Amino acid sequence: MHYVYRFSEGSKELRDVLGGKGANLAEMTNLGLPVPPGFTISTAASRAYLTDGILPPELRVEVTTALRAVEDAMSRRLGDFHDPLLVSVRSGAQHSMPGMMDTVLNVGLNDAAVQGLAESSGDERFAWDSYRRLIQMFGKTVLGVPDAVFVDESNRMKALHGMDGEADLDAGALRELVHRYKELVRGECGREFPQHPREQLDLAIEAVFKSWNSERAQLYRRRERIPHDLGTAVNIQAMVFGNLGATSGTGVAFTRDPSSGRPGGYGDYLPNAQGEDVVSGVRNTLALEELAELDEEAYRELLTAMRRLETHYRDLCDIEFTIERGKLWLLQTRVGKRTPSAAFRIATQLVDESLITMDEALTRVSGAQLSQLLFPQFDSLLPRTPLTVGMGASPGAAVGEIAFTNDVAIRRAGEGASVILVRRETNPDDLHGMLAARGVLTARGGKTSHAAVVARGMGTCAVVGAEELQIDPVGRTMRVADMVLSEGDTISIDGTTGEVFAGQVDVVDSAAMVYVEQGLESALVAADSNSAELVTSLHRLLDHADARRRMGVRANADNRVDALKARDRGAEGIGLCRTEHQFLGDRRGLVEALVLAGSPAAEEAALEALLPVQRDAVVEVLEAMDGLPVTIRLLDPPLHEFLPDLVDVAAAAAVAAERGDDDRDRAALVSVLREHRELNPMLGMRGVRLGLKIEGLLRMQIRAICEATDIRLDAAGDPRPEIMVPLVGSVREQQIVRDICRELFPSIRGRSVPIGCMIELPRAALTAYRIAEEADFFSFGTNDLTQTTWGFSRDDVEATFFPTYLRNGVLTISPFETIDADGVGVLVEAGVAGGRRTKPTLPMGVCGEHGGDPESIRFFHDIGLDYVSCSPYRVPIARLEAGRAAVLSPRGEREA
Ligand code: PEP
Ligand code: MG
Repeated sequence: MHYVYRFSEGSKELRDVLGGKGANLAEMTNLGLPVPPGFTISTAASRAYLTDGILPPELRVEVTTALRAVEDAMSRRLGDFHDPLLVSVRSGAQHSMPGMMDTVLNVGLNDAAVQGLAESSGDERFAWDSYRRLIQMFGKTVLGVPDAVFVDESNRMKALHGMDGEADLDAGALRELVHRYKELVRGECGREFPQHPREQLDLAIEAVFKSWNSERAQLYRRRERIPHDLGTAVNIQAMVFGNLGATSGTGVAFTRDPSSGRPGGYGDYLPNAQGEDVVSGVRNTLALEELAELDEEAYRELLTAMRRLETHYRDLCDIEFTIERGKLWLLQTRVGKRTPSAAFRIATQLVDESLITMDEALTRVSGAQLSQLLFPQFDSLLPRTPLTVGMGASPGAAVGEIAFTNDVAIRRAGEGASVILVRRETNPDDLHGMLAARGVLTARGGKTSHAAVVARGMGTCAVVGAEELQIDPVGRTMRVADMVLSEGDTISIDGTTGEVFAGQVDVVDSAAMVYVEQGLESALVAADSNSAELVTSLHRLLDHADARRRMGVRANADNRVDALKARDRGAEGIGLCRTEHQFLGDRRGLVEALVLAGSPAAEEAALEALLPVQRDAVVEVLEAMDGLPVTIRLLDPPLHEFLPDLVDVAAAAAVAAERGDDDRDRAALVSVLREHRELNPMLGMRGVRLGLKIEGLLRMQIRAICEATDIRLDAAGDPRPEIMVPLVGSVREQQIVRDICRELFPSIRGRSVPIGCMIELPRAALTAYRIAEEADFFSFGTNDLTQTTWGFSRDDVEATFFPTYLRNGVLTISPFETIDADGVGVLVEAGVAGGRRTKPTLPMGVCGEHGGDPESIRFFHDIGLDYVSCSPYRVPIARLEAGRAAVLSPRGEREA
């Protein structure tokens, strides 16, 4: 095993070893593209460092050998006094973590080499500028000197010389600045800035390894669910310079627009600058096309390289490049992040260009992206107060109050406010604030700035580079011309168009939502040319997903409106009709009357009153889903949910007693309520237990379903009810209910009604082989199964200690949102295996919230469920994800 790989030794398949950046540098090198020579230290070295706390001893030797090869290739020596080679030291993990870890540029410069660089470049100013950049970056990253210390000093120097930016400082001023920076390092760390080039290199490598565990990197990983033990690779590469005057520059290019998906090259270019100037967004950039006017040859060469890379990767690539005195160098490429709408458009564009298949196209989009496309947009027909326009960098519409700092954004978001984080520019330390905010607005920076890249990755709406904005973070105001807004004022930002409005702007359905709700034709009529392409892509990909998926998609719906909505969105039936939802509102009193009935006669009367209500509610959904299965679940929740609150009634009774009023009814109510009070109602008399205890209720529901089916048959409909028993723990419970069903309706006009059960208790999953004997289908209730497996109260924990658990890494995501595959998932698998052991073709689905969660859907496909059932809103997402799952693991079984 070795730790160091020269670029010529790697390939894109070695991402786990070389990190994404290293693997792609190797790939570009092997394609013969102009990549400055270099090598990659593998992630294994980083893991060894993280475990042992020291760099592996062999690493030093391997670095020397590889470094000498770079020196030979460049015919220069690291830190040479006359013609120094300088190197960059950059992090690069397996999964992209933009801006989250450290980078040090210009390593190899010292007091002597800076003279050498001035000599060899013939540009003294450039040499001192490079040196001050090294001291600042190295000081911050390796020596831990706060960046503000350098920034303040630089501002002082600029003021002294009456200049605006570093670019205006001449060689003499920069030399002075370097001198001051070195003093600052000495003062802050009690040591000299290291002069030995190799010491600089070794310390920089170690600092990059350490930055894997910086707070912001950990936060990012938790959010993106990247494992913490992968470690990062480090890329060491000969420096080339974009800051050697007007014929040099640096930029970021995309082979297609990552924001809209528009084909054709796209990007930002900054003449006479180094890479971090582009991503930090400190200076506003030129559009890539403008490079054609500055340096046509380099521009053409770049376009050729971009086409080459896109053909090679068969996907949108983003590229970092530098032009050093007219010579193009490629510093990095990767399959680029993109907005959801760009993802859909690019996927079908590539199919139409015969670069990928429809199956591959499905893997290039995701349900999470689709769900973002369904977010509302601003209503352009309403009067609005435009404030300014920046670049739409991450689409969506966000309305919220202005926060100028991360702290305010986090605090106000924690208090439930919708917040727009407004910054001059953002840097990686702003991640906390960006996570808390609904939207991000910056005055500086291009579409490739950190703010834009991170916001796109998180799906947070962002507008960047709104240059007219004058932000005063101290006075907590922002100004555009004579319009002044303060922290806490409401603004609305449109991450697609870049528009910013004062006050609140109302939102309307997105084009994708119109498509999902009204179909292709209506959506195309309503669409402009941009959204027309999106809608068409969406349609093609959803169609393909439908053709490929093995799992069915049903909806959780309990009334006509929801059922029709679900059907329009492609639901193939109802997987969960919660009958308790049919007794809410005015009807709640009917259930209350049953519970409070003091005599058999009163109970009978209450049930008689309930029957037609239940029957009509079932007719309604059977009609809406005519011809498709409708799984009607018997009453599930604890009865107290239908009763008035004990504390309220007891208080009213006490007040009445105090006043001397004789309120016997209320006093009686208090005693009945006390009787029904349970300390753990979710573990109490609910689900099938309720039906067995109050058998009349159970019989009433079954009769209602039976009569509703009759009514639909009379109306020449095609009703397909299925009865589902909730919270079964023992086969006997299921058997009793099934016997009652059989007694009440042996069959309805020759149709048999399947009687199945929910598997939502660990015992049900573990004894599924027994329960299957009495069940015609299983539906996994993963909400309750999660609750009972973890012992987490589903109604409480997300608001109480989950934030702590997410912060400290006990959880990476709420198990109520994405199935906990290692725990709850194992029980689901056990249930599937048990059920199939007894009845190999037993139909099985899932109807917990996880049925609409993209990652969970993949899991359900893999373990062989037949369908997922989710809220009507998520039906298209589930269709897409089920199709993707089929393409990604065609066998639909979990690997051992
Ligand atoms: C479940 O527990 O997963 C389920 C679907 O039932 P409910 O959410 O109604 O308890
Ligand atoms: Mg349940």
